[in-house]
Amino acid sequence: MIQTQGITKSFGTLQVLKGIDLTIEKSEIVAIIGPSGAGKTTLLQIIGTLDSPDSGRLIINGTETGRLKDKELAAFRNKNIGFVFQFHQLLPEFTALENVMIPALIAKEKPGVAEKRAKEMLDFLKLSDRMGHKPAELSGGEKQRVAVARALINNPAVILADEPSGSLDTKNKEELHALFFELREQMKQTFVIVTHDEQLASNVDRVIHIKDGVVLE
Ligand code: ATP
Repeated sequence: MIQTQGITKSFGTLQVLKGIDLTIEKSEIVAIIGPSGAGKTTLLQIIGTLDSPDSGRLIINGTETGRLKDKELAAFRNKNIGFVFQFHQLLPEFTALENVMIPALIAKEKPGVAEKRAKEMLDFLKLSDRMGHKPAELSGGEKQRVAVARALINNPAVILADEPSGSLDTKNKEELHALFFELREQMKQTFVIVTHDEQLASNVDRVIHIKDGVVLE
């Protein structure tokens, strides 16, 4: 499902990734862990095609992403990859419903269809009564669930999450983690989660340790 071959990345003279080889299977839930500054977020951004490696290959669902032109890559990303970040990155001026609809609209879905799907997603995430709220009018856990709904709306094969529960209290954190596993059962997504959360890391299918720019065996 996701394969990286010899991925390297430097920022100036700092070589952050020194040759990352990974294979992540369909429907696997993996956690990426490692010390601060190890390059976990950098790797996740590259897997998400938000940043490009200096060298190496990334293959998602059989597509070598480095071969796609900018527009094709943006369309590929919008269709195949959903993102959940710690700080939600919801657009503050839009309601929960509108935020969730955005990736579907970018994928050129008809507005009526996008709205119907967004409502289904929000309903699934127990947010039906919060659809008209703007992010500032939602709790941290609700915001994070809206972000999950938005990540799911195009039914992407891959969900990438960077410290998704970092800003949540224990109860919301546990609910979010349970949700990931429930989604995998229902929709067979592949999850790659950067986390410092030991409880989450101990529950996933596989833990990938990154240190000094390489994957520890
Ligand atoms: P943390 O657990 O603290 O979030 P991380 O493992 O996710 O860390 P990264 O965010 O991938 O680490 O950063 C790896 C290194 O690359 C750090 O030293 C960071 O300062 C540096 N870095 C990341 N992005 C950039 C950038 N755009 N420009 C310059 N340096 C960067």
